[in-house]
Formats: sequence, C-alpha cells, structure tokens
Amino acid sequence: KIVADRYLKRELLGEGTYGVVFKALDTKTGQTVAIKKIRLGKHKEGVNFTALREIKLLKELKDPNIIELIDAFPHKGNLHLVFEFMETDLEAVIRDRNILLSPADIKSYMQMTLKGLAVCHKKWVLHRDMKPNNLLISADGQLKLGDFGLARIFGSPDRKFTHQVFARWYRAPELLFGSKQYGPGVDVWAAGCIFAELLLRRPFLQGSSDIDQLGKIFAAFGTPKPSQWADMVYLPDYVEYQHVPAPSLRSLFTASDDALDLLSRMFTYDPKARISAQQALEHRYFSSQPLPTIPEKLPRPH
Ligand code: ADP
Repeated sequence: KIVADRYLKRELLGEGTYGVVFKALDTKTGQTVAIKKIRLGKHKEGVNFTALREIKLLKELKDPNIIELIDAFPHKGNLHLVFEFMETDLEAVIRDRNILLSPADIKSYMQMTLKGLAVCHKKWVLHRDMKPNNLLISADGQLKLGDFGLARIFGSPDRKFTHQVFARWYRAPELLFGSKQYGPGVDVWAAGCIFAELLLRRPFLQGSSDIDQLGKIFAAFGTPKPSQWADMVYLPDYVEYQHVPAPSLRSLFTASDDALDLLSRMFTYDPKARISAQQALEHRYFSSQPLPTIPEKLPRPH
C-alpha cells in the first residue's frame, strides 16, 4: 500500500507513546524508513497548526546524532512523521546479557548522546523524554536521539497509551518539585541517568512513584541543602525532607575518576550549576584514555 504517493508501507514495528510505527520503503530514495502515525486526538485543529510549525523546526535539526525527520504530512486525520530507519536502540544494548560494554564503549555511547543534545540545546530545543529506548542506533553504530521535541509539541502523552512509566526514572529533581520553567538541565540529568545505567547495566534510580523517585535521588546523592540549591524552596511542590547524607559515588559505581567526576556534575542538584551538554563534551573524561570506541566497532545485539 502506497501512502502519500511515495511510501510503500511494510510491517508494524511497534506501538509507541504517540501512536503506531510502521516500516516502509521510500520509493523516491529507495531508503528504508520508519513512519510514526500520530493520533491527533481531541484538539485536532489547534495541535495541527503549532505542531506543523514546530515540526518544520525539527526538520532543520540535522546532525549525525539526531534522528533525521525526513518528511511530515497529514493523512486520513493522522499526522505521519517519516524518520530514517534504525536497527536497534540503547535499551536493547544495555539489556542484552551477551553484550559486554567496555569503558571505551560506554564513553562512545555517552559522547554521541551528549553531541546530539548539545546541538539541540544550542537551538533551544529540549528533548524532555530522554531514556535508553529513545536513543536509537543505526546499522553503522551511530547513536541518534529520537523523538526530539515531540514531548513539547504533542504534550505529555496520554496515560492510557503509555508504557511511559519508566520515564520517571530519568526525571530531574526540579521536575519532580513541579518546576515549570525548566531548561536543558532536565535532559542533562536524564543523560546522567543513562550514563549510570550503562555502568550498572540496570536503571539507576527506579522510583515507583514521583515521591519515591525523589526518595531514590536523595538516597543516592543526599538531600539537597539550600546552600547547594537556593531556588529549590520556591518550587511549587517543594517539601522539606529529613536530612540524609550522600554515600560516595565510588561506593555506587565502578568507574574511573574522570567518569565519576563527570557523572557528579551531571547529577548536580541546582539546574543552574549543573554541567551543560557542551561542557560535558569538553570534560577530561572524553579526552583521557581509553578513547571512545569508533561507532562501527561498538557491540550491538544480533
Ligand atoms: P515510544 O514512544 O514508546 O518511545 P516509539 O513511538 O518511538 O516508542 O516507537 C515504537 C516502536 O517503533 C518501538 O518499538 C521502536 O523500536 C520502533 N521505532 C521507532 N522509531 C523507529 C525508527 N526510526 N526505526 C526503527 N524502529 C523504530
């Protein structure tokens, strides 16, 4: 079946946050693509306009570490987004017990993640939904951020449609305290959680509710002191917590000093003091030995 006079629809790839995803052949280029069919839901008209304008911005975000939005068009009342087809994702890599991730491999995955983030943040686009299964991996080993900006365009996904519960594990403390004027720091915190997950091979902070998520964060890093994060007390959902001291990062992770130093800067409580994606790329961790594995040599699921 041909869609929009151009795409030959193939099998269903899966169901995501915003709708179903199909594999397709782009007859114009011969390229295999993934088409995300987005239900426009209740406020069709309203969303359509802003969505299409924002999507135009996303189409201009071209970078080796950001999944390319090839095309976008409405069809039968649904919005179709056409992306380059990606072989696998970082969640599959982390979960595959047959894969051994060396320190150089972890460094490579983190470098590609941060490169993609830095490019978007430079253009004032936030991801807002960073998690390992949104970090897609191409046949040649390049990691690319997927679903960039979709959270902002389409809003937080409808609870009903989501297996979205996991996104909580990657939420920054300012979001859990109800901040509405958050910035790129939320993506850096999430990238820190992904860094930790690459080291541990399991999600780091697995909260079972938003309150529990904060509890997990405090248990790992100690409760934030007003001296560390002055603006915290003004956040809408801020509540005072009983003080807990922080264990050393070294007791939680087996990693080099450089890795732990970068990790601690990504997990800085005060979003204003948290390292930026660009600064993280310039951290000594990325220039010290071992150097990042080249993408083609990274281990991937069979
Ligand atoms: P979610 O919203 O839960 O992150 P998505 O809507 O991104 O999920 O994707 C749903 C399914 O489609 C996933 O199983 C994913 O593997 C697959 N998929 C999404 N984008 C691509 C792509 N660009 N290439 C190949 N498969 C994809």
